[in-house]
Amino acid sequence: LSSHPLIDKFNEPVLKNLGLENDEKLIILGPCAVESYAQLDEIAKFLTENNIKFMRAGVFKPRTSVYDFQGLGSSGLALLKEIKEKYNLKLVSEIMDISQLPLMNDIDILQVGARNMQNFELLKQLGKTNKTIILKRGFGNTIDEFLCAAEYILKGGNKNLILCERGIRTFEPLTRNTLDLGCVAIIKNQYQIPIITDPSHATGHQQLVTPLALASLAAGADGIMIEIHNNPSIALSDAEQALDLKMAKELINRIK
Ligand code: PEP
Ligand code: MN
Repeated sequence: LSSHPLIDKFNEPVLKNLGLENDEKLIILGPCAVESYAQLDEIAKFLTENNIKFMRAGVFKPRTSVYDFQGLGSSGLALLKEIKEKYNLKLVSEIMDISQLPLMNDIDILQVGARNMQNFELLKQLGKTNKTIILKRGFGNTIDEFLCAAEYILKGGNKNLILCERGIRTFEPLTRNTLDLGCVAIIKNQYQIPIITDPSHATGHQQLVTPLALASLAAGADGIMIEIHNNPSIALSDAEQALDLKMAKELINRIK
């Protein structure tokens, strides 16, 4: 294993710093991408009614094909700001390049996506900020490489870091990725740094999200991040894996 001294002695109360009570799970729900005010408003209203305080929603989207929807960019951030003021939600959104940082003041938690897990310059720059970061595991990266990437952020002085297991690429084609709950168990056994999972990108299928969300929490994950949509059939990205609001409500009840 590589050395990761800052992970070894990590003891920052990251979740407490976000306002969570003792042992409270970090539950983040929301659309893959910001699409419109009406979409965000319906989802944010649902979250508020169900006492969910964290909403995810991407505006800079790392799409495999350049011909797919790339996100609304800064106009999407303006919509998020309006929704945040209306519902008082905490926001999670992906940063793909450090040049986007000044635009993202209203975002409470910056996500580094799987494809950028080893973008070491981005990690170094984020290490110099005091923003809470969710670092997602690359789909082709080992746990050791994941910890090394985390170390880049910590070394800059930023201790508000949360890891996210989002599935790795295996020989299995029936799920989008393979959720590695062994990773969650290892991190929980050996380290104090929080780790959540993303069963949406791990499975790629609506019906598989809830069982793997529950399995993640059973394995000791500190939370989950899940894609939901007010009308999945017309979602502009990741439609097949989005829970509709009824399924999201069932998930919330089952987590309780
Ligand atoms: C996302 O969460 O929107 C996303 C693109 O996930 P990942 O980086 O894990 O593929
Ligand atoms: Mn997505």
